[in-house]
Amino acid sequence: MQRSDPASNNTGFPLNMSSIRILSDRVANQIAAGEVIERPVAVVKELVENSIDAGATRIEVEFRNGGKSYIRIEDNGKGMPPDEALLCLERHATSKIREAADLNEVCSFGFRGEALPSIASVSKFTLRTRAKEWDHGTEILINGGKMIDKKDCGMPVGTVIEVAHLFNSVPARRKFLKTDPTETAHITYNCRLFAVAHPNVAFRVLENGRTVFQSPACENLRDRIAEIWGRSLADDLIPVDVSDPKTGLRLSGLTAKPGVGRSTRRELVTLVNHRPVDSRTLSLAVLDAYHGRIQKGRFPPAFLFLEIKPQEVDVNVHPAKREVRFRDDGAIRRFVLNAVTETLAANRADDIAQTIAPPPVTTPKAPVAESRTSKPAPSLLRTTPAVKVEVLPTPSKAIRPNVPPATKATTPGWRLITLLKKRYALFDTERGLVMLHLRHADQRVRFERISNEFKNDTPPSQRMLIPHPLEFEPLASEALKSQLKQLNAQGFQIEEFGRNFYRIEAVPTWLSPEQAESFIRDLVDLVRQRGGMRKHTALGWEAVARLAVEGSYRRSDSLTAQAVEQLAKDLLNCNTPHTSPLGKPTFSEVSWSEWERRFGSD
Ligand code: ADP
Ligand code: MG
Repeated sequence: MQRSDPASNNTGFPLNMSSIRILSDRVANQIAAGEVIERPVAVVKELVENSIDAGATRIEVEFRNGGKSYIRIEDNGKGMPPDEALLCLERHATSKIREAADLNEVCSFGFRGEALPSIASVSKFTLRTRAKEWDHGTEILINGGKMIDKKDCGMPVGTVIEVAHLFNSVPARRKFLKTDPTETAHITYNCRLFAVAHPNVAFRVLENGRTVFQSPACENLRDRIAEIWGRSLADDLIPVDVSDPKTGLRLSGLTAKPGVGRSTRRELVTLVNHRPVDSRTLSLAVLDAYHGRIQKGRFPPAFLFLEIKPQEVDVNVHPAKREVRFRDDGAIRRFVLNAVTETLAANRADDIAQTIAPPPVTTPKAPVAESRTSKPAPSLLRTTPAVKVEVLPTPSKAIRPNVPPATKATTPGWRLITLLKKRYALFDTERGLVMLHLRHADQRVRFERISNEFKNDTPPSQRMLIPHPLEFEPLASEALKSQLKQLNAQGFQIEEFGRNFYRIEAVPTWLSPEQAESFIRDLVDLVRQRGGMRKHTALGWEAVARLAVEGSYRRSDSLTAQAVEQLAKDLLNCNTPHTSPLGKPTFSEVSWSEWERRFGSD
């Protein structure tokens, strides 16, 4: 709104440039608009937030040309009586806070009372609103911050705001806008985020008269995600709900099953007190929790709501951006990392309980892996009996991981159908058809065995028939020397017998003696890259174990049906069975219900 200022001309600038004056509200609004309303999506964001603050259960967003020529937001919220309709367009008019101290406690979205006057100062702006106590609404028309008209109008309870010709009067700002499709993408993405943040609000989004998406009010988050992102993503998510009564922190929502990764971060959505935010702290914590559970460079889809005391978070960082600042970043990081890690671990237990359900009595019994040399049952290997596949045979008893007796005794509900392409094994299970990736599965099993070995006080070791000499250049030699003590405590026996000369006397049983030298050389490279393993930390040994399964430290072996079934069993006994230690999926399942869906029910 314009405040009459005798010293200003029509441009809003003071006539006498040398004297200090207070800016007219119109100019202040236009300047604020530059901050708050960087681009059309910011208008949509401010207006939708206002609608949500007003208690709307139905919100419709319509826009044209990426929002540059037209934006309309319609809601069925509480609306405003005529005096408030006028007041809300005044600078710093807000119903949401009274004092600066309240800023620490704000739970509503807007709190500056800046959005509406800013938007109105740089567009052709129409507000129509009606509160339920009134039998008519109020319509106000503003152009470039100047009020053109105000009148009564008939309308249902709620608010409709139209914003046309955004930035027409501010060509400098218009120049910075991106192409229509880019601005459109920002608007639709943000509307999707709002829809996820508020599943119980019905949303409809229209672009150039065409519905981009719509979703009725949903009972729960999963339904909402299925509506907006599709059922298959929704089915790939598991529920999270972890609270810490001490700090009042709570993390809830849905997060990717292990092995489920996407090529972009777009579906890694974090919200703080129901506000979608971009937070490095949060997304790094989530990524950390998936370390080794999804492929490197991919992102887990997740929709995670963090609840936190308002005074512990600053949402006031930048009006137009979605950044937040936590008072105690480290504590938030740890809480989120633990919450997601715990959820993934617990889910694994559930999953396996289902997977190892005994097979129905009518089906043929899977062969028992009593002897590794016995011939495979022919019926189980219809197409390729005993193909040669590069998989290490199950190592000796001495280095089997500690398997709980209950699961050990059970036959997994996975029945081997056949091996395919020398790389896969197809299984028939209670829940569907499972394709096992032999190499990834083998890597996971060996990785966990080796990792378990490192926890062992006296890891089994094998002597080399002839000690193997090794020479290193000085820096590499230093690196090896720094690790000798730890390596020798873990089943290696490597002696230094001269300047930069070493002798391998023994290696752990998981490493084949022929490969001892190349393994040690790779290990030295790893130590040099990482700047040394941290003493006795799981991290250091994990890196060693990963190295051990990743390279060529394997023996070729013919793969029998028994060996494949044993591999599947061993895999299901792993702590993280869904992915290889390098984050690749170990198996993929197509459920019976999915087959039914594909063929259609009769
Ligand atoms: P803020 O949201 O920071 O308070 P705004 O400029 O966005 O500032 O809005 C100013 C005031 O106008 C709000 O505090 C609210 O009282 C009122 N208002 C805005 N939009 C709506 C709406 N859709 N329904 C009801 N009241 C609204
Ligand atoms: Mg607002």
